[in-house]
Amino acid sequence: AKSGGRNRLVAFVPEMTLAAQRRAQLEADLRRAIEQEALLPYYQPQFDCRTGAMVGVEALLRWPHPERGFVSPGEFIPVAEDTGLIVELGRWVLRRACADVAAWDRQGAPPLTVAVNVSARQLKEPDFLGDVLAALHTSGLAPGRLELELTESLLMDDVEGALTFMHAVRVAGVRLSIDDFGTGYSSLAYLQSFPINQLKVDRKFVQSLPVAGHTIATAVIALARGFGLAVIAEGVERPEQLEWLRAAGCDHAQGFLLGMPMPAAQLLALATRPATP
Ligand code: C2E
Ligand code: CA
Ligand code: CA
Ligand code: CA
Repeated sequence: AKSGGRNRLVAFVPEMTLAAQRRAQLEADLRRAIEQEALLPYYQPQFDCRTGAMVGVEALLRWPHPERGFVSPGEFIPVAEDTGLIVELGRWVLRRACADVAAWDRQGAPPLTVAVNVSARQLKEPDFLGDVLAALHTSGLAPGRLELELTESLLMDDVEGALTFMHAVRVAGVRLSIDDFGTGYSSLAYLQSFPINQLKVDRKFVQSLPVAGHTIATAVIALARGFGLAVIAEGVERPEQLEWLRAAGCDHAQGFLLGMPMPAAQLLALATRPATP
């Protein structure tokens, strides 16, 4: 197959299924997009439920594909994980996120935290901690402003390795949160030994509030309280969900109701906008 041109070919063997072809093409395109730094970090704001103040953002990758429009991370992150491209991509997001938040500071934004998603594959990299420290050092961002989002399955995949990593990260002053909490299989016993700062209630449970989902949401909030952890709800779309969460004592909230994921410039404008009474 030839390579390099816009219509770079992937060596399709005839017996490849259509799905396999699409995936091979996606992989080739992704490789190229990473080389050309064509992906973008978007930022979704996070708010304090009590005061309503913006307190942080979550970095979410976006890929504007030349022919297919925006490709969803749900589609390209698994490809990046399978191919190992996530290591380079993850390092890049980490650097961009730290640099962007440090730049917003200088432009008058309140001191926001920035949450960055971490894949299992990245955690297995021997020098992932070095990447984290380099991103902080280069940007000048205080470690306590960076939060790494880990999923339960990632933690349970290699508990010993994850624990070693988590302790090192906490010693460096970086914050840790467990994403999609309640959807994985981490046992409560492990939860007690994880040096984490925050639990993130999965969107699935938030979606059905206040009619259903409240049993699990209540339990997660109580669990966080008991362990002295903060708790954030993701996927808040309706005012009644936010009301319920506020009354239940949830600390932070994130979702389309409060703010969509947006480009850095737009987030900065939102964060520096004078408060409207
Ligand atoms: P996640 O970490 O659970 O991220 C939350 C997802 O929910 C995001 O989808 C976000 O856009 C979406 N979301 C936020 N508020 C709402 C809401 O109110 N309603 C609904 N229905 N959805 C909402 P997105 O951006 O498509 O990302 C999907 C997943 O891709 C993420 O799930 C995360 O697992 C992964 N991902 C995204 N960026 C990165 C990254 O930089 N690194 C890694 N390793 N994974 C990433
Ligand atoms: Ca996340
Ligand atoms: Ca999540
Ligand atoms: Ca998820």
